[in-house]
Amino acid sequence: MEYFAGKYDVIVVGAGHAGCEAALAAARLGCETLLLTLNLDTIAHMPCNPSLGGPAKGHLVREIDALGGQMGIVADETSLQVKMLNIGKGPAVHALRVQSDKLAYQNRMKAVLLSQHRLTVTQALVERLVVDKHRMSGVVTRSGARFESENVVLTSGTYLRGRIIIGDSMYQGGPNGQMPAMSLSDSLKELGIELGRFKTGTPPRIHRQSVEYSKFRIQPGDDKLWRFSFLPTESQFWHTDFSKQIPCWLGYTATQTHDIIRENLYRAPLYSGKIEGIGPRYCPSIEDKVVRFAQREAHQIFLEPEGWQSDELYVAGLSTSMPEEVQVKILQSIPGLENVRMLRPGYGIEYDYVMPHQLSLGLEVRQLPGLFTAGQLNGTSGYEEAAAQGLMAGINAALRATGKDPFILLRSDGYLGVLVDDLVTKGVKEPYRLLTSRAEYRLVLRQDNADLRLTDKGRAIGLVDEERWIRFENKKKNYNYIKEQWKSTVFSPLREDLHLVMAEAKSTPVRGGISAQDLIRRPEITLDHLVKLLPELEKFDREVLEEVEIETKYAGYIEKQWADIERFSKLESRCLSETLDYEEVRGLSTEGRQRLTEVRPLNIGQASRITGVSPADISVLLVSLEQRRRRGNI
Ligand SMILES: Cc1cc2nc3c(=O)[nH]c(=O)nc-3n(C[C@H](O)[C@H](O)[C@H](O)COP(=O)(O)OP(=O)(O)OC[C@H]3O[C@@H](n4cnc5c(N)ncnc54)[C@H](O)[C@@H]3O)c2cc1C
Repeated sequence: MEYFAGKYDVIVVGAGHAGCEAALAAARLGCETLLLTLNLDTIAHMPCNPSLGGPAKGHLVREIDALGGQMGIVADETSLQVKMLNIGKGPAVHALRVQSDKLAYQNRMKAVLLSQHRLTVTQALVERLVVDKHRMSGVVTRSGARFESENVVLTSGTYLRGRIIIGDSMYQGGPNGQMPAMSLSDSLKELGIELGRFKTGTPPRIHRQSVEYSKFRIQPGDDKLWRFSFLPTESQFWHTDFSKQIPCWLGYTATQTHDIIRENLYRAPLYSGKIEGIGPRYCPSIEDKVVRFAQREAHQIFLEPEGWQSDELYVAGLSTSMPEEVQVKILQSIPGLENVRMLRPGYGIEYDYVMPHQLSLGLEVRQLPGLFTAGQLNGTSGYEEAAAQGLMAGINAALRATGKDPFILLRSDGYLGVLVDDLVTKGVKEPYRLLTSRAEYRLVLRQDNADLRLTDKGRAIGLVDEERWIRFENKKKNYNYIKEQWKSTVFSPLREDLHLVMAEAKSTPVRGGISAQDLIRRPEITLDHLVKLLPELEKFDREVLEEVEIETKYAGYIEKQWADIERFSKLESRCLSETLDYEEVRGLSTEGRQRLTEVRPLNIGQASRITGVSPADISVLLVSLEQRRRRGNI
């Protein structure tokens, strides 16, 4: 029997990485919010790798934090190890990665949710969406509770019609032995929403005492207090004592490993046709790697700790859905794992996803106002991609509930903008993973300046609180002061210490005076050199100094990117009406017309990124826009 169970401004379905950010954002923006999830004990669960960040994903976590989201703070507080990747390369690809204590991450996020004002968290399985006159009006759970709201954010991850695959064994299920959500897919289909089928996989977990570590190379954390959050966070495990960080271990598969896989390929669901869903190209299974890179003698594997006190190790690089007994043989063939104890087998999981070309740039389902979708449900893969979408969908559900315009980020604002624009404008053919190469303006969208790019936008919509805002304003003041100081400080060529620094840096001596700015522009001159000449710089946060250093050293490239952004913005500002009938625009190609009608771009810039819309189509559109403007009907 269905019964009325309450009315809310916003309802969020699913407390995974997307749902947590969505619910917190909506409640923090003043909306009475309900978060419904299958199991309170698996809030913010990490069903796969015990880590957050890395290239592009680390940028996303910093952007979530800069806007007032939660993932960055909890990631810092529950980290086992921190490492800045690509530190030897340019600043555009510097990316923080932390190893996380999974259980601590879940418990910390759960505590934040349960203490959040205006947020109600309830365990329930949502089975049906309720629509009234083509608009969202609520959800119904398996136990008959009907919760009403005009704004619903669906973030059901890998659970929709979840199917687990381990060799010949296949059964309905969610990740890690949880139940699937079997009915919601039908409800979505009945509402005319197109679904697709994707697959992902995870490696086995092994006992940490069954490893012979002498056959692995230790991978320690950095001895630097890297943080995702712009707030002063620290790990509850190692605080600031770098020596207490827990290492990972690097090893390699052996020829015998590859032989075992080849001998059993006929039993691999991926190759026996038992798997229908399309898997992620960037997280291939080991059987896939052995087939696709047959000439490779060895593949890297990393043993990653799952927790501060956990006995479980995650075997990164060995994702598989091979039969269990074959998985054990594969593990035992790896040097150092001869006596391995497998605690959990690897598995594949298939699930339904919502085809994202049906969404607006605010992540609202265009044909069903009030329904928002986020996370793996939109065809992406990754905790960070999910959390980023959750934040955007939660913000936009709250803005809709309070009658405000949607919050949209451009590709030039951040990786968040790149992610959503790619999904909505280009759609997905396989699980989408964010990469730095997907961003046109990488040098501007660095992980170190996420707050300078986004915090004021988060403040403008009401999500950035006072503490974060004061910190940000203070940082910005220092940042501008330092930039000005370096421009206006000119070192006299008579200064002895200047010559010492130049000699130490093996830099060409100066004849005339040189500004601090011009000095640090020299590649061989470092921040430490400059601090020797300007000791008062030590009173500033190292992070701010490093940011000004990057901006100064790469000034030329950054200026060029801003010029590109200028051009990009011009096309983004040529608006297209959402009701424009492309059937009436003469001269468009058939495919172009069909794709434009499907995606309904907001502007010429977005239209030009739609797969199937040619440059000729864009010229036709621009002419048609101009004609309509002259006729005064736009
Ligand atoms: C086996 C496996 C392997 C993976 N491998 C990788 C990888 O290699 N690389 C990578 O980047 N990512 C990987 N991922 C993906 C990563 O886990 C997800 O991207 C991320 O967890 C998605 O977050 P989400 O919030 O969208 O969904 P999820 O984390 O899946 O959370 C969904 C939440 O919704 C709840 N829920 C679902 N349906 C309902 C309902 N009807 N009613 C109420 N609650 C509901 C669930 O209980 C859960 O709490 C893998 C995931 C799995 C399961």
